[in-house]
Amino acid sequence: MRDLAVTLAHGAGGKQTSELIDQVFKAHFANPALTADDAAVLTAPRGKMAMTTDGFIVSPSFFPGGNIGKLSICGTVNDLACMGARPLYLSCAFVIEEGFPMEKLEEIASAMEKTAKEAGVQIVSGDTKVAGKGQVDGVFITTTGVGEILEGVETSGAMAKPGDVVIVTGDVGRHGCTILLAREDFGIEADVTSDCAPLWGTVQDMLEVTKDIHVIRDATRGGVGTVLYEIAGQSGVGVQLDSTAVPVAPEVQGVCRMLGLEPLYLACEGRLVIVTPKEEADKVLEVLRKGKYSGNAAIIGEITAENPGRVIMTTEIGAQTVLPQPGGELLPRIC
Ligand code: MG
Repeated sequence: MRDLAVTLAHGAGGKQTSELIDQVFKAHFANPALTADDAAVLTAPRGKMAMTTDGFIVSPSFFPGGNIGKLSICGTVNDLACMGARPLYLSCAFVIEEGFPMEKLEEIASAMEKTAKEAGVQIVSGDTKVAGKGQVDGVFITTTGVGEILEGVETSGAMAKPGDVVIVTGDVGRHGCTILLAREDFGIEADVTSDCAPLWGTVQDMLEVTKDIHVIRDATRGGVGTVLYEIAGQSGVGVQLDSTAVPVAPEVQGVCRMLGLEPLYLACEGRLVIVTPKEEADKVLEVLRKGKYSGNAAIIGEITAENPGRVIMTTEIGAQTVLPQPGGELLPRIC
């Protein structure tokens, strides 16, 4: 019979551990590379590869539009996609709190299966640890991903050039806003869902129309504002941002007004900031607007030689102001 909750015995490496792995993880992650051996045996990509890792501790672990499982695949797959890399393999390590409901763990594994399938990535190795009650909060997941960089693609935060166009692939701040509301600390009810999505398909479609993309970055923790500052710093350029062109869903805007928050600093988990030469911008925008997760893509600014390291914003009334530098952590445990 299936246990109702995770116990310390599930992490002890014996019979119950094998049962947990077989019944929950292998049941969802099965593929030829995922074996009972000590390491996965894989075929190396022919060209350059990208590798990245990320820990996920989001609280709550279930939220409108996703859960920690979906997020743990999207976060890593999207970081690979930002380098122009087709996601190939993932590993995942779970740290589970004793007493965590088995049903919830199953739901998390199922979301990971579905998201990995959509992204075309195989989960090839994993680890499960169980910590005593109160030693972790619910479940933490770390995923590591390896991808194959498409030939002829070179992206970096250091490659933005004056005259380039800045594109965002959809409305901003949904994930941060969703988590904030899900915590119920503010007593605000609004119909906001996370934008959490695997974006390799989005990047692949774009790279099919042009490989001349300078920067791709997913606007996760710290939001689009933080990413723009990172690009300005890495490339030694200025960013001229048209604040009126930044897409924000009305419900997110409403919550931000109530709480005095700036949507540009709220996390996204399914949005990319793209910097591309001006000549490529129209076709990039056209292909993005046909995409499943980028229908609201918009040009939000351009790269300048002036104001290196800074983001200058044109406001609703046409004034020029410096977008304040992102401060400390707005919300802990957002991803
Ligand atoms: Mg990233």
